[in-house]
Amino acid sequence: MNCPHHIQWVIAAPNGLHQCLQCFEVVTRKDITPKFEDLGPELQRQWEAHEAAAKRAEPAQAAP
Ligand SMILES: [Zn+2]
Repeated sequence: MNCPHHIQWVIAAPNGLHQCLQCFEVVTRKDITPKFEDLGPELQRQWEAHEAAAKRAEPAQAAP
């Protein structure tokens, strides 16, 4: 799959996951274009908030 998973195609999916609308794969922050570090604070905050919301719903992975 040569899809770059551009951030503009990536949407929040259930269970704290993110999905690319171009290829329909589940993507992580390592898979996307541009790099997660280059997204800027607002997109990073949204991404992390979406992941964090799913973690809160999963008591087996309690935060330290
Ligand atoms: Zn993709």
